Amino acid sequence: MSRWLRSLRRWATGMGLASGLCWQVVLASTPIVDPDAFLKQTAQLQLTDHPRFLERLAQLNQQASRLTPNQWWHLQQLNAWQAMYEGDYAKSEALFQDIIQHSGDPALVDHASALLLGQLGLTRRYPEAFELANRLTARLPKVTDAKNRSLLLVYLSSTLGLAGQTDLAVHYARMAMAAAPAGEKQDSCSSAAFLVSALYNGHRLKPDTPELQQAFDACPAASEPVYNMVLMSTLADLYANGGQPRKALALLDRIEPSLDTNGYVPAKLSALVSRAQALAALGDDDAAKRAALAVVARNKSGDIDAWLKDAYEVLYRIEKKQGHAATALDYHEKFAALDKAYLDDIHARALAYEAVQQHVLAQKLDTERLSEQNAALRARQKLDAKTAEANRLYLVLLLMALGLAALLMLRLKHSQLRFKRLSHLDGLTAIYNRQHFMGEAGRMLHQLEKRKGAACVAIIDLDHFKSINDTYGHAMGDEVLCRVVGACKEHLRAVDLFGRLGGEEFGILLVDCSRGQGTAIAERIRSTIEATAVELDGVVVAVSTSIGLAFTDVAGHDLRRLCTEADAALYGAKRGGRNRVMAGVEGLSVA
Ligand code: GH3
Ligand code: MG
Ligand code: MG
Repeated sequence: MSRWLRSLRRWATGMGLASGLCWQVVLASTPIVDPDAFLKQTAQLQLTDHPRFLERLAQLNQQASRLTPNQWWHLQQLNAWQAMYEGDYAKSEALFQDIIQHSGDPALVDHASALLLGQLGLTRRYPEAFELANRLTARLPKVTDAKNRSLLLVYLSSTLGLAGQTDLAVHYARMAMAAAPAGEKQDSCSSAAFLVSALYNGHRLKPDTPELQQAFDACPAASEPVYNMVLMSTLADLYANGGQPRKALALLDRIEPSLDTNGYVPAKLSALVSRAQALAALGDDDAAKRAALAVVARNKSGDIDAWLKDAYEVLYRIEKKQGHAATALDYHEKFAALDKAYLDDIHARALAYEAVQQHVLAQKLDTERLSEQNAALRARQKLDAKTAEANRLYLVLLLMALGLAALLMLRLKHSQLRFKRLSHLDGLTAIYNRQHFMGEAGRMLHQLEKRKGAACVAIIDLDHFKSINDTYGHAMGDEVLCRVVGACKEHLRAVDLFGRLGGEEFGILLVDCSRGQGTAIAERIRSTIEATAVELDGVVVAVSTSIGLAFTDVAGHDLRRLCTEADAALYGAKRGGRNRVMAGVEGLSVA
């Protein structure tokens, strides 16, 4: 659509401003009752009745202070459109950017973005246009407003058409037709016209292409004069260049009056070029020359203009045919320069498009690579976190296991110790058993011998114990044994060793004990036992003991010898009548 869009702008500059100025002063002061409705209606007049659009725009600007912020942004949108239409691209771009960045209204942002895209294409800022097109294509799924979607799609179509991407341009134009809101005739017409433009620019349009008729149906001359003229001129162009010059001329004659009425310069230029081409084809050189020169005369811009190029080509061929070499050469040079510029421009567009696509591709690859790296990093971090967590768990488990093991060990040790202690004790009286007594006594005597300490061994045997058992029963016998142990303990020090040697026989090792001290202790034990009445279940029993003593100062520190001597002394005590203490080998009674 580039050829037409550029021309639309010039037409508006010439026609819209001129007619708008007269009414501005009168209408500007008329208060606007419903600004929202007023803004909407004004927007609809942009192409259908541009002079009225300008009047109303002036009115809106005059009363801008009465608008709400959102209404004010809508007004800015209209101002931006008008600036673009007038060709004041610096102004329109600043306004579009302001709307995009600050309006905060997604619908307005989409609208402004679509128009900015169109403008970038118009002004041949191809790299920026294609970059924006890429961004907006990505945004497309989020554009829900039907009008904006349709608008964005037509500008995407025209931008891709500029890049020579005809398939995509046609595709987007068709999407725009499908997206055009039902009942919005303007949008249906513009999208149908853009589709025709995409097909035309891609050299896929013929006079009988259905899309052309479809566009004519969507853009009737009465309500869409501009688009209708564009379509008519396009059809004439197709006839003129399609070997049907007579048909072209017939159509051009038919639309001539409305072309003049509308004052639409691009359509007029296109029609003039087609007329020149058709007349040249029919051999009417003079008329063809007049039409071509009219194009040259009307073209005031230094713009790259396909119509001007075509007009110079017609002129060059006619002059050549008529043998005017110098004039022909002059026209040819002009034609060639425009043709080259035109081709360069096409080339520049394709190149810019390629560059942007490459850039996008590179970015995409970069993004993918980055996201792959990120994914790998995330996976690694996840794994690390899991490993750390697992390690922590293992550590906790290990500590728990160690704790448990330590506890078990402690308990084991404890029970071992307890067991060991129990294994050293006599089950009934809880004093050392024979084995432990003998072992400990041997060890202590050995130590005493080293430091030349004295000790006394006493062996205590209950008198007639068997008869107690026999008379009062075993339980009474046990009770007596326990009471005797208790009586003995009363006279022993902590350092002394006390054990049950078996049955009713007990052994005592009195450490650091002289003969006298040992004899005295044994005597106190004997008398205490004698004085103790053992009572069980109301039965009282008296008991006595015989004690045999042996001393290291006589027998030395050998346990076996000491025991033998003590046993001998005990035997002496029994023989002596019992209930007495006897000491040493000499069997001396001390009691
Ligand atoms: P003697 O005055 O000559 O020592 O006479 P005795 O009866 O005390 O000596 P004897 O060796 O004939 O008897 C010891 C008894 O001790 C035999 C046994 O039944 C008893 N006896 C041994 N161990 C225990 C015990 O643990 N409990 C009880 N109730 N009796 C026991
Ligand atoms: Mg005995
Ligand atoms: Mg006895």
